[in-house]
Amino acid sequence: MAKRDYYEVLGIDRNASPEEIKKAYRKQALKYHPDKNPGDHTAEEHFKEAAEAYEVLSDPEKKARYDQYGHSGLGGAAGGGFGAGEMNIEDIFSHFGDIFGDFGFGGFGSSSRGRSRQHANRGTNLRVKVKLTLEEIAKGVEKKIKVTKYITCDACNGSGAAHGSAYSTCSTCNGRGQVTRVTHTFLGQMQSTSVCPACGGEGRIITQKCPKCYGEGIIKGEEVIKIKIPAGVAEGMHLNMSGKGNAARRGGINGDLLVAIQEIPHPELIRDGSNLNYHLFISIPDAALGTTAEIPAIDGKLKVRIDAGTQAGKILRLKGKGLPDINGYGRGDLHVKIHVWIPKKLSREETRLMEEFRKSDNFIPAPGSRDRGFFKKMRDMFE
Ligand SMILES: [Zn+2]
Ligand SMILES: [Zn+2]
Repeated sequence: MAKRDYYEVLGIDRNASPEEIKKAYRKQALKYHPDKNPGDHTAEEHFKEAAEAYEVLSDPEKKARYDQYGHSGLGGAAGGGFGAGEMNIEDIFSHFGDIFGDFGFGGFGSSSRGRSRQHANRGTNLRVKVKLTLEEIAKGVEKKIKVTKYITCDACNGSGAAHGSAYSTCSTCNGRGQVTRVTHTFLGQMQSTSVCPACGGEGRIITQKCPKCYGEGIIKGEEVIKIKIPAGVAEGMHLNMSGKGNAARRGGINGDLLVAIQEIPHPELIRDGSNLNYHLFISIPDAALGTTAEIPAIDGKLKVRIDAGTQAGKILRLKGKGLPDINGYGRGDLHVKIHVWIPKKLSREETRLMEEFRKSDNFIPAPGSRDRGFFKKMRDMFE
């Protein structure tokens, strides 16, 4: 699309003075300002076009090139600093914000266009603890917990007003929700815009407050919250439930609910990451003769075989009988460490039998067994 002549865009002739150019641009910018023409695409195009024309004609060097060579004199990058066709509304406000100041519009950042008006308030985050057994951690669980927190007032639907017309326009910001401050610096006028302190950005003041929440829009209440806890969580982890925290004053964004995981220790199984450890005590005859033993595991009891001649300290690894990995990398193992129980007191009969054992060569490592081969064999048994 062919570009329109910049002078035509601003409705001025070629002899216009800098002051006239500025005045003409203000007029155009005011006419096509996005605040005055919400959702009007044509107006936005005019607004951009005028800004581009002003960007060139307000710069003596660019103006001279444009006067001599037309659009091609600007080297394709019409509009100079912005690049051809890439000028957007935010750029315009940040470059020419001071132009609008006089007209009661927001300066920098086009902030008066209502973007931040709705969400000036945010509810605070809530923290709760959830205690879980190993069995619950293994499978994942859904917990329902009752949380005492700020909830939206049901009498006014969170508005804080006694009824729908109990408002007046905020006189501090004239309903804009923002206040613009102009400061004079050696670089010229600077504008800054901030949320109106009188109305908190809402642009209006409640004239008659809701009697139930005293105008806050929130009340103390209770909510039963369902928390889905994935399998494999661990002590100290936090789950973040977005929007489940305290409600915000007068229709803002809810805070988050932070769920801290606590583990209830298992009476017999010891957790080590996704692995579980269990200490199994067997008798001297069971270690020598072999036996079967019942192991408490996460999903019921497990029977394991103890081979004849099992050494104290041996670890049995039961693959996949641990806990699921929280990131879905399979399951850990259950490690059963064998301990051989040595009785502290023996009856007369037991003592006699032990004396018999002592006489047998088979109950001590064979002579010459403390060589490298023996220790290697012992080590392999415990690996
Ligand atoms: Zn209320
Ligand atoms: Zn205000």
